[in-house]
Amino acid sequence: MTLRIGVIGTGMIGEEHSHRITNTLTGADIVAVSDVNLDQARAMVDRLGLEAEVYETGQKLIDADNVDAVLVTSWGQTHEEYVLAAINAGKYVFCEKPLATTAEGCQRIMEAEIAAGRRLVQVGFMRRYDRGYNLLKDTIDDDRLGQALMIHAAHRNPSVPERYITPMAIHDTLIHELDTFRWLLDDEYASAQVVFSKKTRHAHSEVSDPQLVLLEMARGTRIDVEVFVNCQYGYEIQCTVVGEEGVAHLPEPQSLTLRQDGKRHNEILMDWKKRFNDAFDTELQSFIHDAQAGTLQGPSSWDGFAAAVAGDACVKAQESGQIEPVDMPKRPDFYR
Ligand code: NAP
Repeated sequence: MTLRIGVIGTGMIGEEHSHRITNTLTGADIVAVSDVNLDQARAMVDRLGLEAEVYETGQKLIDADNVDAVLVTSWGQTHEEYVLAAINAGKYVFCEKPLATTAEGCQRIMEAEIAAGRRLVQVGFMRRYDRGYNLLKDTIDDDRLGQALMIHAAHRNPSVPERYITPMAIHDTLIHELDTFRWLLDDEYASAQVVFSKKTRHAHSEVSDPQLVLLEMARGTRIDVEVFVNCQYGYEIQCTVVGEEGVAHLPEPQSLTLRQDGKRHNEILMDWKKRFNDAFDTELQSFIHDAQAGTLQGPSSWDGFAAAVAGDACVKAQESGQIEPVDMPKRPDFYR
């Protein structure tokens, strides 16, 4: 049976996901959309040629009888309210990151989901569906590296808008790494430290950029991540796992090597959408399939919560300049 999806938030990623659900994926239709900017919602419906009703509020969309599942792609600050409303209505909800802007908000979502008695929430940590990251994970899980001793990683963006401030390097940017490392290593964080380098002249006054985040896992693996969101030259994600028996690098995105004018060129992507396009497709196709089957299997509210707990410690470390402990509560049996 076709899954009828309502989309809350018709900005950049809301439109990307609506486009892929409509044109690339199978098993779902967009039947409803909502955005604080109604004109933007209507314009998206027209651009994509959707047969979808435009609702004035997200709550009305969630309550609509013909909406089976909800896609939350509005601003991060609004996610908690919509995810809780969807759980309340007993509907499956795919929520873009962050699940909520604080660990307490994620906790409230977990409590509501546990009270509902079944998994209803999937969080948009799409790197778990990226082929390259899965190769890394298989290598670690198959014990080909021995124990993972260290991870060196980088998250670089060409530039960020004026509204991007220093803590967003954690909540908006590093949050993907925070989920990815605990998934790769099947471990939780023990501590976090943030070190600021000399500031790039391309960063505006409200963001300290770049930053180095140093993480320690409970089983002792040490991780360093460079977060550099005004690097100018491209969008690049790097990850190298150093083990006892070898070193594994996240594959580079495929690109043509061009020999011309006395130079050898490889394109570097400028845009995150292209870098993770296939992962986004697989992630949402899995959500559709799992919602139809009645058992969600993707990143859970617990994963959203665990990343938020680590993120809060990183923000504290930005402010204190100290090594901050990550106090991860015990995982509820519901999420085992
Ligand atoms: P965006 O372009 O600003 O879109 C967000 C949309 O939500 C805007 O149209 C905004 O309207 C609307 N909105 C704001 N408050 C709302 C409310 N209360 N109810 C309904 N709609 C509301 O942002 P985006 O880049 O698409 O990001 C959206 C979310 O996806 C963010 O949480 C972001 O972190 C996440 N994201 C994830 C990835 C990933 O890699 N997984 C990538 C990009 C974004 P106005 O603009 O009119 O205020």
